[in-house]
Order: sequence, then structure tokens, then C-alpha cells
Amino acid sequence: MPAKRTTVRDLRRHNRSTLLSKLFFDGPLSRHELSQLTGLSAATVSNVTGELVEDRLIIEAGLVESDGGRPRVLLRVDPNFGNVIGIDVGETGVKVELFDLAMNRLAAVDHPEPDPLPDPTTVVAQITSGINEVLAAADVDSAKVLGVGIGLPGTVEQSSPAVVHAQTIGWEAVELEKLLRANGVTLPLFFDNGAKTLGQAEMWFGAGRGSRHAVIALIGSGVGAAVITDGTTYRGSTSSAGEWGHTTIVYNGRQCRCGSLGCLEAYVGAEGILDRYRKARGGKDIPGTDEQSQLDALAAAAVRSKTAARVLEDTAGYLGAGIANLINLFNPERIVLGGWAGLAISGRLLPAIRQAAQAHALRHPYGVASIELCQLGPDAVAVGAATLPVAALLEEGADPRVNTAAA
Ligand SMILES: [Zn+2]
Repeated sequence: MPAKRTTVRDLRRHNRSTLLSKLFFDGPLSRHELSQLTGLSAATVSNVTGELVEDRLIIEAGLVESDGGRPRVLLRVDPNFGNVIGIDVGETGVKVELFDLAMNRLAAVDHPEPDPLPDPTTVVAQITSGINEVLAAADVDSAKVLGVGIGLPGTVEQSSPAVVHAQTIGWEAVELEKLLRANGVTLPLFFDNGAKTLGQAEMWFGAGRGSRHAVIALIGSGVGAAVITDGTTYRGSTSSAGEWGHTTIVYNGRQCRCGSLGCLEAYVGAEGILDRYRKARGGKDIPGTDEQSQLDALAAAAVRSKTAARVLEDTAGYLGAGIANLINLFNPERIVLGGWAGLAISGRLLPAIRQAAQAHALRHPYGVASIELCQLGPDAVAVGAATLPVAALLEEGADPRVNTAAA
């Protein structure tokens, strides 16, 4: 193997990546501000931004006054350079969303999935038609799509082609990438676990912004987490790290969908909460047609019903104890609670969740951790999935010269 050297090409890619990322996250900015914020010389900023303008990745975005001198030109990433698609393969359906490069949502479609153990071929068909539907709805040519990111339940092995192990929905080593290719999808594809894509969305645009050490929790039908250490998602050896929902909260406790007993998910996942409520009501059905409406019914009933209030109180307790484990293990600055079920219940339960976390966590790490709600709402998994191709673009510096030379 040749020794690793920093070549001129590496340096150029690094500079492009640095400036493009700065403009993506903090633009519009003037060349002067770019130089100050990145530490790159005025000459380098001028050269590289000139190149990025030529490549149509960035555009001018008006002028800003400077002290005494000429007004400075502001630069930003061109939203029309290309599009990205983000897909949330959830346990209640497949959500497909189309964005421009400024992450403005241009179109979205939702395919509900009533089967709790969906067949991979059904999901592949939903993804494929969803991609075509959003492109048609926004009148975008597929040639403009830089990539499609897909957030999935379970472990997504970052192999090539990508393989999904989602025990709770009955997927064992599903070769999703191969299936999509066989179904005619030719766009560049990126795969990750849904909690991890939610994590990236909240770190980039939501409640995680500005923190280096955070845990973003996804509470839906299932429960997972993205553990961010020093700005990077912790993956472990095969990318399954963060399966917080399947950590044991009660020894020999409730049956979990994964086959084990006493997992956190069996208590604070939507199904677990609703099953505890049903049992507390002596087996009586909960009003509502799906998990989402039933959870809303539980939250509404808690105002007058002691049984419902008790179920939510216990949920806050289990969740707080689970969060205390995260605090003790990872020493995060921030814990962000998201996912559709998390959003439905955590708002009103937040004080009780914090209290339970405080009771179970060590004092010092608890004292430096804040517990907050996700800011991007129930679409955050899809938004995060759409950031996967954007991250690749920013990291590469999107240099057409380098890509052709490297091929
Ligand atoms: Zn489990």
C-alpha cells in the first residue's frame, strides 16, 4: 500500500469542502467572513470560491455593507445546483420527500404500511413509486438528483451493497440495495438507521446544533438513539451501536418484539405504552384507529383518568431511567427527544422525565446535560436521510475535476 501523502489534490478538496460546508451551514457569507471563519487566506478563498461559482455550486446572494469600504458580495450554496431525496422507512409507513440543495422541501408523499412485519418487496415498491411521485409532483428531472438517502429501522450494515438487519420487523440480512437496483432504481443510494438520520438532522438544523456530544433519541413504534461523540455518530463495529431501545430496563420484564425481556422499548415505545395502558384498563380497547390516534387518546384521557395519568407517569419514569443510563455512559451535553411518539408525549412529560433522569443519573454528568425536545418534528428522519447525499457532497468538495481524475 502506498504511503499516505497529502497531495495538492487533497488540499484542494479540503479547501473546497471547508468553504462549501461553511456556506451550506452558515451562508450567505462574504469572502471576507469566509476567510475569517475558516482561517483560509483571502487569496485561497478568492480562488476556491471562484471555482465553486464556475461549477455552479454557489451563487451571489446580494451585498452587505462593510466598514467604510466597498459593499461586499455575499455568497451562498445554489439551491438549484441539484436535488436530494430523503426517505423514512418507518414502522407505520414509507415517507418520501424531495428537497433542493438549500433543504427546502419541494414535495412529499406518504405510503401507510398497516402490516407490522412489512415484506421487503412491498417496501421496495413503495420506495420506488415514492421517488417517481415526488419527482413528478415537483417537476424535477431525475438527472438533477444528487442522491437518495434512506433511513431504516434496525441495523444498516454499511457494506456494499447495503444490508439491513431489522429483527423487530422480521428482516434478517435483507439486501435492500440489491432489491432496489433490481426494481429499476438507478440513482445514487445512501442507507442508514432511522435514529441515526434523525440524529444528523437535529445536529445539522435542530436541537443538536452547536453541541459536540449529544444523544438524539427516536421514540416511535420502536426506540433507538444516535450517539454523537465529538461531532461524529458512534457506530461500533458493524454500525449497530445506539440500539438504546433494546437495553434492559427491567430484569425479566415485559416481552419485547426483539425476543428478549424487559427492553426499554417494551415500556416506552408506542406499542409498549399502549399495551401497558390496555392492561391497566383491564384489557379494554383504546379508542383510535392506529397507534398514533391511540396515543393521542391516552394523552387526552390523562387529564381526567387516574389510570391514564399513571401510565404516562410510569412512561416518564422508565424514559428518565433510560436517559440516566445514556448520561452515565456517554456524558453528553444534550439529550434530544424525538420521534412521533416522543413528540406526542414528551412535551407534557418533560418535567417528570427530567426528574426521573436526575434521580437515576450520577450528579456530575447530569448537571452538565440538558434534556430537550427535537425541533424538526415528525419529518426529521426523512430530512436526515436527505442529508446523507449532502454530507457526501460536502465532504468531497463536489469537485468534478477530481471525480473524473479519480475514476
Ligand atoms: Zn428488545
